[in-house]
Amino acid sequence: MKITRVRAIPMSDPVPPERRHRTDLGTKMKSDATLILVETDRGLTGMGAALGTPPIVAAIVEHELAAEVVGEDPMFSERIFEKMYNGSRAKPALEGGVPQAETSRRAGMVMEAISGIDIAIWDVKAKALGIPVYQALGAVRNSVRAYGSGGWAPGNEAEAELGSYAAKGFTAVKMRVVGRDGFSIENCVRRVAAARRGIGSGVELMVDAHASLETPVAIRLAKALEPYDIAWFEEPVSPDNHAGMAQVRASTCIPIASGEREFSRYGFKSMLEHKAIDIAQPDVARAGGLTEIRRIAALTQAYDIRLAPHAWGSGVLFAASIHAAMAAASCHILEVSQGYMPMMNELFNEPFDVRDGYVHAPDRPGLGFSLRPAAMERFKYVEGPEFAF
Ligand SMILES: [Mg+2]
Repeated sequence: MKITRVRAIPMSDPVPPERRHRTDLGTKMKSDATLILVETDRGLTGMGAALGTPPIVAAIVEHELAAEVVGEDPMFSERIFEKMYNGSRAKPALEGGVPQAETSRRAGMVMEAISGIDIAIWDVKAKALGIPVYQALGAVRNSVRAYGSGGWAPGNEAEAELGSYAAKGFTAVKMRVVGRDGFSIENCVRRVAAARRGIGSGVELMVDAHASLETPVAIRLAKALEPYDIAWFEEPVSPDNHAGMAQVRASTCIPIASGEREFSRYGFKSMLEHKAIDIAQPDVARAGGLTEIRRIAALTQAYDIRLAPHAWGSGVLFAASIHAAMAAASCHILEVSQGYMPMMNELFNEPFDVRDGYVHAPDRPGLGFSLRPAAMERFKYVEGPEFAF
Protein backbone atom coordinates (compact mmCIF):
# COMPACT_ATOMS: atom_id res chain seq x y z
CA MET A 1 0.00 0.00 0.00
CA LYS A 2 1.27 3.46 -0.91
CA ILE A 3 0.17 6.88 0.28
CA THR A 4 -0.83 8.91 -2.76
CA ARG A 5 -2.01 12.20 -1.27
CA VAL A 6 -2.21 14.10 2.01
CA ARG A 7 -4.85 16.76 2.43
CA ALA A 8 -5.37 19.27 5.24
CA ILE A 9 -8.76 20.93 5.65
CA PRO A 10 -9.22 23.85 8.08
CA MET A 11 -12.39 23.61 10.15
CA SER A 12 -14.23 25.75 12.71
CA ASP A 13 -17.14 25.40 15.06
CA PRO A 14 -18.44 28.89 15.93
CA VAL A 15 -20.00 29.31 19.36
CA PRO A 16 -23.40 31.01 19.08
CA PRO A 17 -23.46 34.38 20.92
CA GLU A 18 -25.90 33.12 23.56
CA ARG A 19 -23.54 30.22 24.41
CA ARG A 20 -20.36 32.32 24.68
CA HIS A 21 -18.93 32.76 28.12
CA ARG A 22 -15.84 34.28 29.56
CA THR A 23 -13.18 32.35 31.43
CA ASP A 24 -9.51 32.92 32.20
CA LEU A 25 -8.84 31.94 28.57
CA GLY A 26 -11.08 34.77 27.29
CA THR A 27 -14.46 34.56 25.60
CA LYS A 28 -14.65 31.51 23.40
CA MET A 29 -15.73 32.51 19.88
CA LYS A 30 -15.18 29.18 18.11
CA SER A 31 -13.28 25.89 18.18
CA ASP A 32 -10.79 25.13 15.41
CA ALA A 33 -9.30 21.93 14.01
CA THR A 34 -7.42 20.88 10.92
CA LEU A 35 -8.77 17.69 9.43
CA ILE A 36 -6.05 15.57 7.80
CA LEU A 37 -6.88 13.01 5.12
CA VAL A 38 -4.27 10.49 3.97
CA GLU A 39 -5.27 8.78 0.71
CA THR A 40 -3.78 5.49 -0.53
CA ASP A 41 -3.58 3.52 -3.77
CA ARG A 42 -5.83 0.86 -2.17
CA GLY A 43 -8.74 3.30 -2.06
CA LEU A 44 -8.54 3.51 1.74
CA THR A 45 -8.38 6.97 3.33
CA GLY A 46 -7.11 7.68 6.84
CA MET A 47 -8.43 10.56 8.94
CA GLY A 48 -6.57 12.60 11.53
CA ALA A 49 -6.83 16.03 13.12
CA ALA A 50 -4.34 18.57 14.41
CA LEU A 51 -4.51 21.38 16.94
CA GLY A 52 -3.04 24.76 15.98
CA THR A 53 -4.16 27.56 13.66
CA PRO A 54 -5.83 25.71 10.76
CA PRO A 55 -4.59 27.67 7.69
CA ILE A 56 -1.04 27.58 9.09
CA VAL A 57 -1.21 23.86 9.91
CA ALA A 58 -2.65 23.22 6.43
CA ALA A 59 0.25 25.14 4.83
CA ILE A 60 2.80 23.15 6.88
CA VAL A 61 1.19 19.91 5.70
CA GLU A 62 1.00 21.02 2.08
CA HIS A 63 4.42 22.71 1.72
CA GLU A 64 6.55 20.58 4.07
CA LEU A 65 5.21 17.34 5.48
CA ALA A 66 3.20 15.90 2.56
CA ALA A 67 6.43 15.42 0.60
CA GLU A 68 7.85 13.20 3.37
CA VAL A 69 4.71 11.06 3.47
CA VAL A 70 3.53 10.56 -0.12
CA GLY A 71 4.94 7.33 -1.58
CA GLU A 72 5.41 5.71 1.86
CA ASP A 73 3.58 2.58 3.06
CA PRO A 74 1.37 3.44 6.09
CA MET A 75 2.41 0.14 7.73
CA PHE A 76 5.80 1.86 8.28
CA SER A 77 4.26 4.35 10.68
CA GLU A 78 7.35 4.76 12.90
CA ARG A 79 9.47 5.43 9.83
CA ILE A 80 7.02 8.05 8.55
CA PHE A 81 7.02 9.78 11.93
CA GLU A 82 10.83 9.86 11.94
CA LYS A 83 10.88 11.20 8.37
CA MET A 84 8.55 14.04 9.32
CA TYR A 85 10.46 14.79 12.55
CA ASN A 86 13.98 14.66 11.08
CA GLY A 87 13.13 16.25 7.74
CA SER A 88 16.05 16.49 5.32
CA ARG A 89 18.33 14.54 7.71
CA ALA A 90 15.92 11.61 8.10
CA LYS A 91 18.21 9.25 6.19
CA PRO A 92 21.33 9.68 8.38
CA ALA A 93 19.12 9.84 11.48
CA LEU A 94 17.54 6.46 10.70
CA GLU A 95 20.77 4.85 9.53
CA GLY A 96 22.69 6.09 12.55
CA GLY A 97 19.91 5.59 15.09
CA VAL A 98 20.33 9.11 16.46
CA PRO A 99 17.63 11.77 15.97
CA GLN A 100 18.64 14.80 13.91
CA ALA A 101 15.44 16.80 14.18
CA GLU A 102 14.66 19.58 11.74
CA THR A 103 14.74 22.68 13.99
CA SER A 104 11.15 23.80 13.44
CA ARG A 105 9.69 20.33 13.76
CA ARG A 106 10.45 19.67 17.42
CA ALA A 107 7.41 21.52 18.76
CA GLY A 108 4.71 24.06 17.94
CA MET A 109 2.37 23.89 15.00
CA VAL A 110 4.72 21.68 13.00
CA MET A 111 4.51 19.02 15.72
CA GLU A 112 0.73 19.53 15.77
CA ALA A 113 0.63 18.94 12.00
CA ILE A 114 2.84 15.84 12.42
CA SER A 115 0.39 14.65 15.09
CA GLY A 116 -2.59 14.99 12.76
CA ILE A 117 -0.85 13.11 9.93
CA ASP A 118 0.27 10.37 12.34
CA ILE A 119 -3.32 9.82 13.55
CA ALA A 120 -4.50 9.53 9.91
CA ILE A 121 -1.73 7.02 9.17
CA TRP A 122 -2.79 4.83 12.11
CA ASP A 123 -6.42 5.08 10.95
CA VAL A 124 -5.62 3.87 7.43
CA LYS A 125 -3.16 1.27 8.67
CA ALA A 126 -5.76 -0.27 11.02
CA LYS A 127 -8.42 -0.07 8.31
CA ALA A 128 -6.13 -2.07 6.01
CA LEU A 129 -5.65 -4.62 8.81
CA GLY A 130 -9.41 -4.72 9.38
CA ILE A 131 -9.07 -4.00 13.11
CA PRO A 132 -9.63 -1.02 15.42
CA VAL A 133 -6.63 1.31 15.94
CA TYR A 134 -6.32 0.35 19.63
CA GLN A 135 -5.89 -3.30 18.63
CA ALA A 136 -3.29 -2.34 16.01
CA LEU A 137 -1.44 -0.46 18.77
CA GLY A 138 -1.79 -3.44 21.12
CA ALA A 139 -4.96 -3.48 23.20
CA VAL A 140 -5.01 -3.37 26.98
CA ARG A 141 -8.78 -2.92 27.40
CA ASN A 142 -11.88 -1.98 25.42
CA SER A 143 -13.36 0.48 27.88
CA VAL A 144 -11.87 3.03 30.24
CA ARG A 145 -13.18 5.07 33.16
CA ALA A 146 -14.18 8.57 32.12
CA TYR A 147 -14.39 11.89 33.88
CA GLY A 148 -16.80 14.71 33.17
CA SER A 149 -14.68 17.78 32.43
CA GLY A 150 -16.07 21.30 32.81
CA GLY A 151 -16.88 23.28 35.92
CA TRP A 152 -16.82 27.02 35.26
CA ALA A 153 -19.87 27.94 37.37
CA PRO A 154 -19.49 30.88 39.76
CA GLY A 155 -19.64 30.59 43.55
CA ASN A 156 -22.17 28.15 44.97
CA GLU A 157 -23.53 27.33 41.48
CA ALA A 158 -20.65 24.86 41.23
CA GLU A 159 -22.73 22.54 43.44
CA ALA A 160 -25.43 22.05 40.79
CA GLU A 161 -23.02 22.12 37.82
CA LEU A 162 -20.65 19.43 39.07
CA GLY A 163 -23.57 17.52 40.58
CA SER A 164 -25.13 17.34 37.11
CA TYR A 165 -22.00 15.60 35.76
CA ALA A 166 -22.10 13.03 38.57
CA ALA A 167 -25.82 12.50 37.85
CA LYS A 168 -24.84 11.40 34.31
CA GLY A 169 -22.90 8.51 35.83
CA PHE A 170 -19.37 9.97 35.96
CA THR A 171 -17.46 8.77 39.03
CA ALA A 172 -14.90 11.55 38.56
CA VAL A 173 -15.41 15.19 37.57
CA LYS A 174 -13.16 18.17 36.91
CA MET A 175 -13.71 21.87 37.53
CA ARG A 176 -11.78 24.99 36.63
CA VAL A 177 -9.85 26.83 39.34
CA VAL A 178 -10.80 30.15 37.72
CA GLY A 179 -14.57 30.40 37.55
CA ARG A 180 -16.77 32.65 35.47
CA ASP A 181 -16.63 34.95 38.49
CA GLY A 182 -12.83 35.24 38.33
CA PHE A 183 -10.22 34.01 40.76
CA SER A 184 -9.29 34.41 44.36
CA ILE A 185 -8.15 31.64 46.69
CA GLU A 186 -11.19 32.31 48.89
CA ASN A 187 -13.60 32.08 45.95
CA CYS A 188 -11.96 28.97 44.56
CA VAL A 189 -12.26 27.23 47.93
CA ARG A 190 -15.93 28.26 48.09
CA ARG A 191 -16.56 26.83 44.60
CA VAL A 192 -14.68 23.61 45.36
CA ALA A 193 -16.63 23.19 48.63
CA ALA A 194 -19.87 23.69 46.68
CA ALA A 195 -18.77 21.16 44.04
CA ARG A 196 -17.92 18.62 46.74
CA ARG A 197 -21.41 19.10 48.25
CA GLY A 198 -22.91 18.57 44.80
CA ILE A 199 -21.10 15.30 44.06
CA GLY A 200 -20.86 13.81 47.57
CA SER A 201 -17.86 11.99 48.96
CA GLY A 202 -17.87 9.04 46.54
CA VAL A 203 -17.01 10.92 43.35
CA GLU A 204 -13.46 12.04 42.55
CA LEU A 205 -12.95 15.78 42.10
CA MET A 206 -10.13 17.30 40.06
CA VAL A 207 -9.22 21.00 39.66
CA ASP A 208 -7.55 22.65 36.64
CA ALA A 209 -5.75 26.02 36.82
CA HIS A 210 -5.00 26.26 33.06
CA ALA A 211 -1.38 27.08 33.89
CA SER A 212 -2.50 30.48 35.17
CA LEU A 213 -1.05 30.81 38.68
CA GLU A 214 2.30 31.88 40.10
CA THR A 215 4.06 29.21 42.12
CA PRO A 216 3.45 30.70 45.62
CA VAL A 217 -0.25 31.20 44.86
CA ALA A 218 -0.56 27.65 43.55
CA ILE A 219 1.10 26.35 46.74
CA ARG A 220 -1.29 28.35 48.94
CA LEU A 221 -4.27 27.15 46.90
CA ALA A 222 -3.21 23.50 47.06
CA LYS A 223 -2.93 23.76 50.89
CA ALA A 224 -6.38 25.34 51.09
CA LEU A 225 -7.93 22.63 48.88
CA GLU A 226 -6.44 19.62 50.69
CA PRO A 227 -9.50 19.13 52.97
CA TYR A 228 -11.72 18.58 49.89
CA ASP A 229 -10.05 15.34 48.79
CA ILE A 230 -8.79 16.52 45.39
CA ALA A 231 -7.77 13.71 43.00
CA TRP A 232 -5.42 15.97 41.04
CA PHE A 233 -4.39 19.64 40.67
CA GLU A 234 -3.90 20.22 36.95
CA GLU A 235 -1.48 22.73 35.41
CA PRO A 236 -0.97 24.75 38.59
CA VAL A 237 1.69 26.92 36.89
CA SER A 238 3.11 27.69 33.44
CA PRO A 239 4.12 24.67 31.34
CA ASP A 240 7.50 26.41 30.92
CA ASN A 241 8.05 26.31 34.69
CA HIS A 242 8.68 22.65 35.45
CA ALA A 243 10.74 23.63 38.50
CA GLY A 244 7.82 25.66 39.88
CA MET A 245 5.47 22.76 39.18
CA ALA A 246 7.81 20.52 41.17
CA GLN A 247 7.75 23.02 44.05
CA VAL A 248 3.95 22.87 44.10
CA ARG A 249 4.09 19.08 44.01
CA ALA A 250 6.53 18.92 46.91
CA SER A 251 4.34 21.24 48.98
CA THR A 252 1.10 19.26 48.87
CA CYS A 253 -0.37 15.79 49.16
CA ILE A 254 -2.60 16.53 46.12
CA PRO A 255 -1.26 14.77 42.99
CA ILE A 256 -0.11 17.14 40.22
CA ALA A 257 -1.23 16.58 36.61
CA SER A 258 0.13 18.32 33.52
CA GLY A 259 1.14 17.86 29.89
CA GLU A 260 -1.61 19.12 27.57
CA ARG A 261 0.72 21.91 26.31
CA GLU A 262 3.83 19.72 25.96
CA PHE A 263 5.28 18.57 22.66
CA SER A 264 6.87 15.15 22.14
CA ARG A 265 8.42 12.83 24.72
CA TYR A 266 11.11 15.41 25.41
CA GLY A 267 8.59 17.77 27.04
CA PHE A 268 7.49 14.92 29.31
CA LYS A 269 11.08 13.90 29.99
CA SER A 270 11.76 17.37 31.40
CA MET A 271 8.71 17.17 33.69
CA LEU A 272 9.86 13.74 34.90
CA GLU A 273 13.41 14.93 35.51
CA HIS A 274 12.06 17.82 37.53
CA LYS A 275 9.79 15.46 39.53
CA ALA A 276 6.99 17.84 38.54
CA ILE A 277 4.03 15.49 37.94
CA ASP A 278 2.08 12.51 39.21
CA ILE A 279 -0.16 12.23 36.14
CA ALA A 280 0.85 12.84 32.50
CA GLN A 281 -1.69 14.42 30.16
CA PRO A 282 -0.41 14.35 26.57
CA ASP A 283 -2.76 15.52 23.83
CA VAL A 284 -2.68 13.14 20.87
CA ALA A 285 -3.24 15.99 18.39
CA ARG A 286 -0.37 18.08 19.78
CA ALA A 287 2.27 15.88 21.42
CA GLY A 288 3.03 13.78 18.33
CA GLY A 289 0.06 11.61 17.44
CA LEU A 290 -0.46 7.99 18.42
CA THR A 291 3.16 7.09 17.65
CA GLU A 292 4.56 9.63 20.12
CA ILE A 293 1.86 9.25 22.78
CA ARG A 294 2.80 5.57 22.96
CA ARG A 295 6.40 6.54 23.61
CA ILE A 296 5.28 9.08 26.22
CA ALA A 297 3.21 6.36 27.92
CA ALA A 298 6.23 4.05 28.06
CA LEU A 299 8.53 6.80 29.32
CA THR A 300 6.17 8.02 32.06
CA GLN A 301 5.25 4.47 33.09
CA ALA A 302 8.91 3.87 33.94
CA TYR A 303 8.44 6.57 36.63
CA ASP A 304 5.13 5.06 37.88
CA ILE A 305 3.38 8.11 36.44
CA ARG A 306 -0.15 7.44 35.23
CA LEU A 307 -1.56 8.61 31.92
CA ALA A 308 -4.76 10.63 31.56
CA PRO A 309 -4.86 11.89 27.95
CA HIS A 310 -6.04 15.46 27.44
CA ALA A 311 -8.99 15.26 25.07
CA TRP A 312 -10.62 18.57 24.23
CA GLY A 313 -11.34 19.26 20.58
CA SER A 314 -12.83 17.74 17.47
CA GLY A 315 -14.41 14.31 17.23
CA VAL A 316 -11.27 13.08 15.46
CA LEU A 317 -9.12 14.14 18.41
CA PHE A 318 -11.50 12.45 20.85
CA ALA A 319 -11.66 9.26 18.76
CA ALA A 320 -7.85 9.06 18.63
CA SER A 321 -7.71 9.70 22.39
CA ILE A 322 -10.05 6.76 23.00
CA HIS A 323 -7.71 4.45 21.08
CA ALA A 324 -4.64 5.81 22.91
CA ALA A 325 -6.38 5.17 26.24
CA MET A 326 -7.26 1.59 25.30
CA ALA A 327 -3.65 0.77 24.38
CA ALA A 328 -1.77 2.29 27.35
CA ALA A 329 -1.54 0.13 30.47
CA SER A 330 -0.83 3.20 32.62
CA CYS A 331 -3.96 5.05 31.45
CA HIS A 332 -6.51 5.11 34.26
CA ILE A 333 -9.01 7.69 33.05
CA LEU A 334 -10.05 9.72 29.97
CA GLU A 335 -11.40 13.25 29.74
CA VAL A 336 -14.93 13.71 28.37
CA SER A 337 -15.75 17.38 27.72
CA GLN A 338 -18.97 18.77 29.15
CA GLY A 339 -18.56 22.03 27.21
CA TYR A 340 -20.31 23.23 24.03
CA MET A 341 -18.74 20.77 21.55
CA PRO A 342 -20.69 20.20 18.28
CA MET A 343 -17.46 19.50 16.33
CA MET A 344 -16.83 16.65 18.78
CA ASN A 345 -20.34 15.26 19.06
CA GLU A 346 -21.90 16.07 15.66
CA LEU A 347 -19.01 15.36 13.27
CA PHE A 348 -19.51 11.63 12.76
CA ASN A 349 -22.29 9.32 11.66
CA GLU A 350 -21.51 7.07 14.63
CA PRO A 351 -22.07 8.35 18.20
CA PHE A 352 -19.41 8.02 20.92
CA ASP A 353 -20.27 5.32 23.44
CA VAL A 354 -20.02 7.02 26.84
CA ARG A 355 -22.20 5.41 29.49
CA ASP A 356 -22.18 4.54 33.19
CA GLY A 357 -19.01 6.58 33.69
CA TYR A 358 -17.01 4.69 31.06
CA VAL A 359 -15.91 5.35 27.48
CA HIS A 360 -16.26 2.25 25.32
CA ALA A 361 -14.04 1.71 22.28
CA PRO A 362 -15.63 1.16 18.87
CA ASP A 363 -15.06 -2.32 17.40
CA ARG A 364 -15.01 -1.00 13.82
CA PRO A 365 -11.76 -0.90 11.78
CA GLY A 366 -9.48 2.13 12.07
CA LEU A 367 -10.59 4.96 14.35
CA GLY A 368 -14.08 3.59 13.74
CA PHE A 369 -15.81 6.81 12.76
CA SER A 370 -16.97 8.34 9.46
CA LEU A 371 -17.68 11.99 8.67
CA ARG A 372 -21.29 13.05 8.28
CA PRO A 373 -22.01 14.09 4.67
CA ALA A 374 -22.68 17.72 5.67
CA ALA A 375 -19.71 17.97 8.06
CA MET A 376 -17.46 20.04 5.76
CA GLU A 377 -20.19 22.63 5.20
CA ARG A 378 -21.36 22.66 8.83
CA PHE A 379 -17.80 23.13 10.17
CA LYS A 380 -16.23 25.26 7.44
CA TYR A 381 -13.34 27.43 8.53
CA VAL A 382 -13.96 30.86 10.02
CA GLU A 383 -11.09 33.39 10.24
CA GLY A 384 -10.05 34.87 13.56
CA PRO A 385 -8.86 33.77 17.00
CA GLU A 386 -10.64 31.12 19.08
CA PHE A 387 -10.72 33.34 22.15
CA ALA A 388 -11.31 37.08 22.46
CA PHE A 389 -10.39 39.23 25.44
MG1 LIG B 1 -6.54 21.22 31.33
